[in-house]
Amino acid sequence: MEKEKVDELKALLSQPKKTVIIPHRNPDGDAIGSTLALQQYLQQCGHDAVVVAPNDFPDFLKWIPGVEEMILFSTETEKAKQLIADAELIFTLDFNHFSRTGNDMEAVLNQTDSTYVMIDHHQAPADYAAYTYSDTSISSTCQMIYHFLEMMDATDKITKDIATCLYVGIMTDTGSFRFASTTSTTHRVIADLIDKGAKNSDIHQQVYDTNSTNRMQLLGVALNNMKVLSELKTAYITLSQEELDTNNFKKGDTEGFVNYSLSIKGIVFAAIFIENKQDQIIKISLRSKGNFDVNQFARDHFNGGGHINAAGGKSDLSLNETITSFESTIKNYKNELEDAQE
Ligand code: 5GP
Ligand code: MN
Repeated sequence: MEKEKVDELKALLSQPKKTVIIPHRNPDGDAIGSTLALQQYLQQCGHDAVVVAPNDFPDFLKWIPGVEEMILFSTETEKAKQLIADAELIFTLDFNHFSRTGNDMEAVLNQTDSTYVMIDHHQAPADYAAYTYSDTSISSTCQMIYHFLEMMDATDKITKDIATCLYVGIMTDTGSFRFASTTSTTHRVIADLIDKGAKNSDIHQQVYDTNSTNRMQLLGVALNNMKVLSELKTAYITLSQEELDTNNFKKGDTEGFVNYSLSIKGIVFAAIFIENKQDQIIKISLRSKGNFDVNQFARDHFNGGGHINAAGGKSDLSLNETITSFESTIKNYKNELEDAQE
């Protein structure tokens, strides 16, 4: 964000404001961590700050400091609408198109005339925000919130709870600091968050070591369903609604499954296709290594988007039809996949 804009925003925030902070639909660790961290900072500065999430999220994120104050648009719609209508400033975090909040909330956001601030690290930002801090090179929105606090000269306001929130999002979005987006700056930010009280080992355990037996058994089904197309350096997993039901699927249970396909030697492109009978869609997650651009692939074929190495989208076809179409589509990418570096 340009210096002028930073100064403008600083001036705006020098007086108490009514603010709402919004993560994307099906919020992940980065979305929840960044919104809660920003809320706690704004509250310390004397602002009214409420996080309004489009819908619910997995249990492994429900311990994060401040999470109990969060309002869900899906279940507390009238209250959420009122907060949005009354807000002078609306921060949208970890997404850059209103459509990422779902149809109902998108309509509400389109109607308000409050001032928007976008902080996000995805490609192709929309232009709804008066203040846009968008940088696709940064590992996570949580790391951007840290840099935002630096811009506000406010890193001294990072409490143990804020440090914990930010640590969660940086950890989850970087695959525990192993993805290419992890830089020396990421590690310097993390070091400071630990100095400010984030308990790194505890946080890791709270997020990753609270598996249910059902989730582990569903992982077994997923791995058993994995199909490897060696000549295309591709591996994909399918999960039908019936398989989810049999294993008592709960939100978040399939998080990270797609990475198992990518961990196979020689594979550069991984996908998971998950049937959702209620929404009548197949939800798709895509991952890649090196320069194979899954963001573009998701945009071109599955009405989605994301980052070069991690993206998602959906299909309105049946699970079988989606797979048939996927298999025939990727044949057109044979050269790119062959050239992609592991
Ligand atoms: P995941 O596969 O973990 O759900 O998402 C990976 C990345 O792709 C995230 O950065 C997420 O924001 C993005 N993404 C996932 N699904 C969609 C989608 O349906 N549309 C768009 N535009 N991005 C998505
Ligand atoms: Mn993110």
